Amino acid sequence: MSVKEDMEMGIKTITWVAAGLVLSLVLSACKSVPITGRQQFLIISESEEIDLGLTAYRKTLEEETLSTDAEKVAMVKRVGGRIAAVSGRSDYQWAFNLIEKDVPNAWALPGGKVAIYTGILKYTQSETGLAVVMGHEVAHALARHGGERMSTGMMTQVGVQGISLLLGQGDPQTTQAVQQAFGIGSQVGIMLPFSRHHESEADEIGLHLMAKAGYDPREASAFWKRMGQGGGKKPPEFMSTHPSDKSRVLRIEALLPKVLPIYEKNR
Ligand SMILES: [Zn+2]
Repeated sequence: MSVKEDMEMGIKTITWVAAGLVLSLVLSACKSVPITGRQQFLIISESEEIDLGLTAYRKTLEEETLSTDAEKVAMVKRVGGRIAAVSGRSDYQWAFNLIEKDVPNAWALPGGKVAIYTGILKYTQSETGLAVVMGHEVAHALARHGGERMSTGMMTQVGVQGISLLLGQGDPQTTQAVQQAFGIGSQVGIMLPFSRHHESEADEIGLHLMAKAGYDPREASAFWKRMGQGGGKKPPEFMSTHPSDKSRVLRIEALLPKVLPIYEKNR
């Protein structure tokens, strides 16, 4: 074999090995979403995701003020507790916080760390309304939408080699990336809206969760209608990341025949 042929063989081998590595990575990275069963692509493990979520959680709580309204705090913990109890994740270290801030926002991090902002309570109006938001946010965490978003982000931005670098613990850039992936806090950077597909999926899983927890799922379309009307001059944060349009309400209403029997059984 000539030197040239030898080199060509070498390059071919490297190409095949690389292709094989990518393929095995992709295959090992396919998981399925609870309730909807959709196949998703994840290159970070759930425990890595939970660790990252915990760092982002602590950092976010340091920056925010917790509500001292005992009655509302108790309501958030009660609704959260009921949704968590039917989530199928008793292994999570659940925590439900009410943050004193006049923005209509809420989030849930992997591992079960949840926060509701006081500004969204004027749209939720009741405990059932709060269960809509709670179910939806918990669904984003259960379905690992943030992890999925980080996975595609990592693949496109840094490539396979950069993953271990990007997963460095405690690094402020990593914390910020996690906060963004889960749609937290305006002061930490640009809010990334979840894709339309993730939103629909969180709505669907959220409806199942609230119905199973004994909350009337019909309240979901009423809540999103209120959100759609409450824009004002500047669109509220939750609204800009969770656009409430007619098609969303219609999709939710189309799911009701499936979830109402679950509610009837658990009310
Ligand atoms: Zn959402």
